[in-house]
Amino acid sequence: MIEQKMLIAGQECAAGNGATFERRNPLDGSVATRAPAATTEDAIRACDAAAAAFPAWSQLGPNARRAMLMKASQALEAKGEAIAAAMAAETGASGIWAGFNVHLAASMLLEAASLTTQINGEIIPSDVPGSVAMAVRQPAGVVLGIAPWNAPVILAVRSISTALACGNTVILKGSELCPATHGLIIEALQDAGLPAGVVNFVTNAPADAGAVVEAIVAHPAVRRVSFTGSTKVGRIIGQTCARHLKPALLELGGKAPFLVLDDADIDAAVNAATFGAFANSGQICMSTERFVVDNKVADEFIAKFAAKARSLPLGDPRKGPVVLGSVIDLATVERCNAMIDDALAKGGKLVCGGKAESTLMPATLIDHVTPAMRIFHEETFGPVKGIVRVNGEEEAIATANDNEFGLSSAVFTRDTARGWRVAARIEAGICHINGPTVHDEAQMPFGGVKASGYGHFGGQQGINAFTETRWVTMQTAERHYPF
Ligand code: NAD
Repeated sequence: MIEQKMLIAGQECAAGNGATFERRNPLDGSVATRAPAATTEDAIRACDAAAAAFPAWSQLGPNARRAMLMKASQALEAKGEAIAAAMAAETGASGIWAGFNVHLAASMLLEAASLTTQINGEIIPSDVPGSVAMAVRQPAGVVLGIAPWNAPVILAVRSISTALACGNTVILKGSELCPATHGLIIEALQDAGLPAGVVNFVTNAPADAGAVVEAIVAHPAVRRVSFTGSTKVGRIIGQTCARHLKPALLELGGKAPFLVLDDADIDAAVNAATFGAFANSGQICMSTERFVVDNKVADEFIAKFAAKARSLPLGDPRKGPVVLGSVIDLATVERCNAMIDDALAKGGKLVCGGKAESTLMPATLIDHVTPAMRIFHEETFGPVKGIVRVNGEEEAIATANDNEFGLSSAVFTRDTARGWRVAARIEAGICHINGPTVHDEAQMPFGGVKASGYGHFGGQQGINAFTETRWVTMQTAERHYPF
């Protein structure tokens, strides 16, 4: 069991009142981590610490910030084994998923390091004689990062790395489901020598999340909120931020469609489908949640896909390598089982897998899914996926768009120009032609539309999100006034 601490003003600490909460392993219920249950006073102390560290950090030269972020990237890679163990204990994730998390998060820190010298402004022609007019980007202030448990290293690092590169100081509010995993990221940043108060870490008991987040958002020094999580909580965060007039970046749920057109390379589609649907047991915001398959190729695609899905190793990730580890909790099992019952009762056909009795859930596919079924509309966030059969491209596009979410998507066709035309009409922030829906790189513009949220991470988009644009003029000649 790990005894986790918070980090405020460079000091590891417990909650002010000594309160703690426990995170238990989803498979056997053993206590994985005990962590501080922050009070709102602790949260405010973290804001004060970040505000105090802001002047020096924001004025530090870009190369000094870059050097520390590069060191942090190496320090994170060095913690790979500890992170894999913490993820297996806290979230039930497989070693493959932990390794991918560490690799991409380390790359995000390197990308952030490279951005420190890319925070550009512009000179804008002014109609006022002698006026030099500029758009200047400055650090915004204190940034609150809130990250979920499902891709814990990637999403927590993403919520703060570009913010730090831009000269902001940060508070990471860890997930209640993986406080030790998030704590290891904070350790890596400390190992890299970031000054006290530049990064602060707060953990809270589940019941206190709303109060702790509101206290931080309300703090006058806090200028940006970066939230990744469910659409349900995203709406609450969006409302809280609106009340305090704080800009928010909301990366929320998804229901990614994967279109298999009649001219698709079926073997390539099956490989991408298996990865996109079942990596981390389908618990990724970009996970393929809906297969939209042309009837002309559906039988071949489904037969090959089911054979591959059945072959995926499933088991306790603490005991050896698996593809499907444990899902996060029994609530996921119950939600997915209910969606299977609902689909089968309404005419769906089980192709492989089926209902689970524990958090070890098999890869499950249901054919002949229709809009009357819950699985057509709702996020399963588990290894249970529906297949909708369609006739032709127009019906495929209409089916893809018949959903409230819009994060990732994919289309398979041998005709890439056709793929481009179809991609342009899919309502999603991300579309991959002949690639899986699960794909992330640090430098790419990552963000959703519709109920998947707003704002973008990645590269220049991240700089825009975490800086304030100011208009500054310099009058270099005598200026004339009308009176
Ligand atoms: P969640 O929304 O339940 O929790 C996320 C965070 O919100 C946690 O830190 C929690 O403490 C906080 N929170 C909970 N209630 C709150 C409240 N009332 N006020 C303020 N904060 C509160 O999400 P989760 O279950 O941890 O993650 C899974 C969800 O995240 C899925 O819907 C998934 O699609 C989504 N997700 C999105 C992306 C993306 O980039 N778009 C990435 C990964 C996951």
